[in-house]
Amino acid sequence: MRDLSRDHRWLSINTATVRKQWSLDRIIEECAKRGIRAISPWRDQVAHVGVDHIGKLLRSHDIELSGYCRGGFYPAPDKAGLTAALLDNRKAIDEAKQLNAPCLVLVVGSLPGALNGKADYHDIQRARSEVFDGIAASLEYARGVGMPLAIEPLHPMQAAERACINTLEHALDICEALDPKGAEHSFAASLGVALDIYHVWWDPKLQSQIRRAGKDRLMAYHVCDWLTPTRDLLNDRGMMGDGIVELRKIRGWVEEAGFDQYCEVEIFSELDWWRRPGEEVLQTCIERHKTHV
Ligand code: ZN
Repeated sequence: MRDLSRDHRWLSINTATVRKQWSLDRIIEECAKRGIRAISPWRDQVAHVGVDHIGKLLRSHDIELSGYCRGGFYPAPDKAGLTAALLDNRKAIDEAKQLNAPCLVLVVGSLPGALNGKADYHDIQRARSEVFDGIAASLEYARGVGMPLAIEPLHPMQAAERACINTLEHALDICEALDPKGAEHSFAASLGVALDIYHVWWDPKLQSQIRRAGKDRLMAYHVCDWLTPTRDLLNDRGMMGDGIVELRKIRGWVEEAGFDQYCEVEIFSELDWWRRPGEEVLQTCIERHKTHV
């Protein structure tokens, strides 16, 4: 297992962590100033500044991406909606490629409309089948472009609104169905998973499924902590060390499986970290990365 206690070369900042404090161009500068080598930006933050300009900034500051957030949200009430989702995912894949991301993270979606308070239908099996078909279509395009897709299983508390894939096992079943490992010696997965400890820490099959995923499918690793009590279903993620997740143990499993990339800090925190100065948040991420990740 890697020793991360000496420096923060394997720290990446998911830019949602300081999205309330700064725009993306400023976030890039603040990360560069602190020797943070990687970020994972969100599409709306990129669009706000402009994808060309963000590309230039990343190059001039020598900052790379640990992922691009995000594609997905495939289910829709009708054909037009399904097609629109596929087109939007193509755009996301192109942006990820332009920014040289190692993968596009997929939050796959679930009951359409639920996020806005009124689901167009209630059949989660239908949502799952639309997700399966949507990933299949995106994958074909993504392979042509050369952009791996990483399914992020979400905690079941978000099964209605954001993702109907809620376990690593389910995500890997889809990976194996759509992107089977052939007999050839060298396998480069075009479909894998983004493992976010906030969503998966509770899973009794976590260790065995991480082993099953292996190096090829483990495309991104997101860290934060689970607070008790949790005061908001979406935006009450904790800083590493402030909650109950056994971060070192899980990273041990992930690295045993061959993962050797960035640990990406992703904290949505309406009540705490989004209210603090960005400088303090980044400094705390650097410290806790060394002491708790
Ligand atoms: Zn995540």
